Amino acid sequence: MQTSRIDTEVLIVGAGPVGLVLAIDLGQRGVCCTLIERKDAPQFLPKMERCNARTMEIFRRMGIVDTVRAAGLRADVPMDVYLVLALNRPPLLHLPYPSVAEARRRIDACTDGTMPLEPYQLISQYTLEPLLKSIAESLPTVTVRYGCEFVSFDQDASGVTTKILFQDKTSKVKSRYLVGCDGGTSAVRQQLGIGLRGEGDLLRFRQALYYCEELFGKLPIGNGPGQGRHYHVVDECASFLIMQDSTRHWTLHARVAQDADMARQFEATVGIPVKYEMLNVGEWKHNLLLADHYGMDRVFLAGDAVHLVIPTGGLGMNSGVGDAVDLGWKLAGTLQGWGGPNLLASYEVERRQVGDRNVGASRYASAGRRKWRSLYRPEIGDDSAAGKAARDHLVRVADVEQRKSNEMIGAELGYRYVGSPVIWEEPGGPEHLFREYVPTTWPGARLPHVWLKDHVAIQDRIGRGYTLLRLGGCREDASVLANAMRTCGAPFDVLDIPDAGARDLYGCDLILLRPDLHVAWRGQRAPAQPQALAALVTGNRETTGQITERS
Ligand SMILES: Cc1cc2nc3c(=O)[nH]c(=O)nc-3n(C[C@H](O)[C@H](O)[C@H](O)COP(=O)(O)OP(=O)(O)OC[C@H]3O[C@@H](n4cnc5c(N)ncnc54)[C@H](O)[C@@H]3O)c2cc1C
Repeated sequence: MQTSRIDTEVLIVGAGPVGLVLAIDLGQRGVCCTLIERKDAPQFLPKMERCNARTMEIFRRMGIVDTVRAAGLRADVPMDVYLVLALNRPPLLHLPYPSVAEARRRIDACTDGTMPLEPYQLISQYTLEPLLKSIAESLPTVTVRYGCEFVSFDQDASGVTTKILFQDKTSKVKSRYLVGCDGGTSAVRQQLGIGLRGEGDLLRFRQALYYCEELFGKLPIGNGPGQGRHYHVVDECASFLIMQDSTRHWTLHARVAQDADMARQFEATVGIPVKYEMLNVGEWKHNLLLADHYGMDRVFLAGDAVHLVIPTGGLGMNSGVGDAVDLGWKLAGTLQGWGGPNLLASYEVERRQVGDRNVGASRYASAGRRKWRSLYRPEIGDDSAAGKAARDHLVRVADVEQRKSNEMIGAELGYRYVGSPVIWEEPGGPEHLFREYVPTTWPGARLPHVWLKDHVAIQDRIGRGYTLLRLGGCREDASVLANAMRTCGAPFDVLDIPDAGARDLYGCDLILLRPDLHVAWRGQRAPAQPQALAALVTGNRETTGQITERS
């Protein structure tokens, strides 16, 4: 075996969206990392198409939100969902969802913290991946190598030695940490001996990608143009047509016997003559699986390597982006020397519970879809009393059940890290809800979005380290906590936010935020044990407890 030495602080395996986001996050924090990907180049294959609001907030923090939007679907196209017999027949059910432009108008007018700072963005994975790749490649501390395959690793107390295969030659890479972002069949996870638990291979679908220049402009649905995002066809194949970001590419999912059937299925769905090209057909499986662990010692796992969901609810890649940004600052803090052992240990505690909840949310949404789908009857399209009765019943059920897939704001924004060793816990806490988002500053929660004076978003005022917010004119002395944080070596700022609206919404005078804008501690008075708090949030203290306020 030929060996050559490439030293890097973090070796990331897999340039899917999760590995790429991790590389960008680490690169922006000045961490040296190498990303290897076995494909020779990003592929033009359909998978996800929607970055949810939380992912877009994260992209805003990374300074890439406008670039992502510019590459994605234009802002005026609504996200409406239809149930149809075919596109040329009146829709059975129409669920309207706002365009990015409309969602932004609602966000601009929202003052109660219930909305995200950024709307979702429809961008196909085959557009997003090359874009993220080019951003990662532009960062000086990031090396991206395509055509390079992970083979195996060995780890010891000082680091990880990974065997890779590049142009038919094997070599070894030495890194301080290894992160497997290598998807559902993760070889890194398998070598760690970590299993996936849950329900695998529940259903198989064929998915085809079509290029059709004229369909979007000619969409014949209803009285209007019928332009939306999802078209669920009420048929025996559970066909499902999805508009992609260009509006000229479409995917169709259907349970058919062979690849060639996907052309006939597209034509039956569209119902009007259109010129089109079928670019690709593949098969994919429904899984609801969660890994037993998110890593071991110096090796971590993120994204589909540890959670596989049914895309109903769009919690696949979006959950993985959350993993990447939770792990990124913790790796950086540990490598920079201020992060204690609990910092990296908290990654699994925090993210596995989110993975678990999101597998549950996906199960809930897909069960809803299966429920209305089970009401399909062969006579459902007939102009008969039996046909009408079957349609009416299915539509009544779908009007409730289909919404579960499209209205997941609680799962997107409302996740809160419970039992984390780096969060100063308060006993109790609000329930986790999939469908509703109730803004809260309970420790572990994402800081709710609030507009400040001059329509400035609070997120945009906050730097990339830890931040103590002093709200509503609070004058508590922050110097002892600042000294304690700086003694640890952690980046720390105090930010005064005099706006009464923010203080009222957040319900407290002081909030200590982590670099990922999750609440680490809150109070009305300066913490009575600032050294203990600093040690805890930076992962240098093992016990948790309630901090008493200064009297
Ligand atoms: C039809 C469909 C629709 C979807 N829609 C959505 C949606 O709307 N929203 C959403 O959030 N999610 C959606 N998803 C899920 C989403 O596509 C995945 O969750 C996402 O791709 C996971 O990203 P990842 O980076 O973890 O893994 P992947 O995208 O699987 O990337 C893993 C990468 O690792 C590489 N790799 C694997 N093994 C090795 C090795 N040994 N060496 C080097 N490289 C390796 C692979 O080539 C690949 O590029 C959808 C999925 C499907 C199938």
